Amino acid sequence: MKRNVTLSEISDGRLYELNDMVKADCHGCVGCSDCCRGMGESIILDPLDCFRLTVFLQRPLQELVGDKIALRVVDGVVLPHLLMQGAEEQCGFLDTEGRCSIHSARPGICRIFPLGRYYENGSFRYFLQTNECVGGNRSKIKVSKWIDTPKLIENQKFIQIWHDLLMQVEELILSSDDDTFRKNLTVYLLNVFYFEPYEAGKDFYEQFESRIKRFREIVPQEA
Ligand code: SF4
Ligand code: SF4
Repeated sequence: MKRNVTLSEISDGRLYELNDMVKADCHGCVGCSDCCRGMGESIILDPLDCFRLTVFLQRPLQELVGDKIALRVVDGVVLPHLLMQGAEEQCGFLDTEGRCSIHSARPGICRIFPLGRYYENGSFRYFLQTNECVGGNRSKIKVSKWIDTPKLIENQKFIQIWHDLLMQVEELILSSDDDTFRKNLTVYLLNVFYFEPYEAGKDFYEQFESRIKRFREIVPQEA
């Protein structure tokens, strides 16, 4: 999701690589669940989030839509996001103790918070959102440790490929006057990367690669 702000407005102005130390560690968020509430439609799910969630819950994403998840148009493309619910506008996965009930399968945006990703020149780095986490006494931690993501090399490659694909699809959709084309493209993307069930016992990145190949047969990279 694109944001119309400058880095200096929302961060400490630095960009971080995986081996850098960043002041993000809020020590288990004891007594706090502030970033699981009032997040609007901003926690957008990518295919890896969909894999983690559907395997963990043993439910297809379609069943979660309208319950824990909603769909909305993000920069021209329909994508799923976590649904905030109730008077407190809290995430449907927040339990009664104020803890994340899907912690090991939580989405990437939750995983890296209060970090965000900054894409530039075909790669990305992380930035520290300075006005988001209300937890005091944060200490320094290595970025790679904080984001708590196995298979980091494959993961970083996946994130870039997915970002580039979304940018291309967004451009195709926003530059077309053909409603049928726009609808078909966004439905195809949703089906291939979100609604078609992932295999629980198989590596996500292998499954993503085969889906990318299939998607590229219909939407070539140069299109
Ligand atoms: S998935 Fe978990 S960490 Fe993410 S907003 Fe929901 S409760 Fe919070
Ligand atoms: S706002 Fe900060 S301290 Fe509070 S739950 Fe989120 S990451 Fe943890």
